[in-house]
Amino acid sequence: MKLYSTNNRDLQVDFQSAVFNSMPLDKGLYMPTYIPELDDEFIQHLDRFTLPEIAYKIASALLHDDIPAADLKAIIDEAINFEAPVQQLDEDTYVLELFHGPSLAFKDFGARFMSRIMGYFLKENEQLLDVLVATSGDTGGAVALGFLGVPNTRVTILYPKGKVSDIQELQLCSNGQNIRAIEIDGTFDDCQLLVKLAFADEELNSKMRLTSANSINIARLIPQTFYYFNAVAQLYRAGKKNIVFSVPSGNFGNIAAGLLAYRMGLPVQHFIAATNVNDTVPRFLETGVYETRPSVQTYSNAMDVGAPSNWVRIMDLFKGDRMKVLELVTGFSYSDDATVKGITDIYSAFNYIACPHTAIAWLAIQDYRKQHPSASTEIANPETFVFLSTAHACKFPDIFNEEMASKIDVPAQVKELMGKPKHATLMKADFAAFKAFLLVPEKP
Ligand SMILES: *Cc1c(COP(=O)(O)O)cnc(C)c1O
Repeated sequence: MKLYSTNNRDLQVDFQSAVFNSMPLDKGLYMPTYIPELDDEFIQHLDRFTLPEIAYKIASALLHDDIPAADLKAIIDEAINFEAPVQQLDEDTYVLELFHGPSLAFKDFGARFMSRIMGYFLKENEQLLDVLVATSGDTGGAVALGFLGVPNTRVTILYPKGKVSDIQELQLCSNGQNIRAIEIDGTFDDCQLLVKLAFADEELNSKMRLTSANSINIARLIPQTFYYFNAVAQLYRAGKKNIVFSVPSGNFGNIAAGLLAYRMGLPVQHFIAATNVNDTVPRFLETGVYETRPSVQTYSNAMDVGAPSNWVRIMDLFKGDRMKVLELVTGFSYSDDATVKGITDIYSAFNYIACPHTAIAWLAIQDYRKQHPSASTEIANPETFVFLSTAHACKFPDIFNEEMASKIDVPAQVKELMGKPKHATLMKADFAAFKAFLLVPEKP
């Protein structure tokens, strides 16, 4: 697999460099020079394949030159070792549950695959790979649990004190082994800035092999295509066709993967990009003006992104043509009040408890239906709506009323964490202190 920079098609690198560098020096994003189309036979008979089989088919179409078949298969079996079921809510509405991995968020797909790809490329005795991550909650947990125990790697997570939920904090701080957490007395932006300064610091880069695990890494994008195909496979088994996916979006990696899957042959009618009030993309789709803004804090905090980093990938897929994007993608955005009402409505209608991000994707389906009244009523061609559930509700306990909160079942992954001690280094948002921490040699 060769990749180019969205800022310069002539700048091409191989997969391994793209994985370790995350981002080209020209600050574009890596995109595959060639997007393989999966064969018709496979697409038409998706219903015959399991998630790991589908994952292998896609990954080998993209990566067959980079990783031998048996190794790739082993990576997938280890990384994608949990389910992504679709649950039916009514005749034509389904929820795709992406929260059955170790950190209870869809980011597990990307983080687990990426960590194992990196582990694979790190030859034995090569210098330790130091992964630095700033997190507002979900990314850190997925990355920590993704890299936990992966040889030759060490993860340092920075999170803002008092600004992540209890479960998220436990996921960050209870791992031990090759995972360390730093609790920053500051905001998420402070954490992000410290990580950025570390990447720009000459001394650190000369002494350590630093890498970021953020959502722009191509090795996080690829595995996110798997569950789209697998969702279609399940819907085919249920006799459903003409699928519309609604994707709760922040950095737009999830939906970018859906659109990449579409290019590879995913049989789907349409995508809905659902955001909170951080609505840079829905505004752009409506007005044609792409204007980023500072992010605003909301209940769906994993989508509090004012400048979505993966959007350039989507524009690149469509050669910068907004009208072409609009043929396949519709955007909607929702306030916190609407989000809470969405959560309540889903609960009353289906006795289903959705996390705030997930509720936004459901709300967008309701509005899309209103805009396309014939789409779901035309008997000959009924559409099937699938909204992606990106996290388990138990990660956001504060948002639910008592009745709902009491009905959220706490998964085994979380129960296991409950008794564990929390280990985090408390630190001021101060680069000198962070740098000194990084330079301390590991205790034997
Ligand atoms: C990260 C995240 C999102 C946003 O996904 P993007 O790929 O950044 O658009 C949505 N929901 C949850 C729960 C997340 O953790």
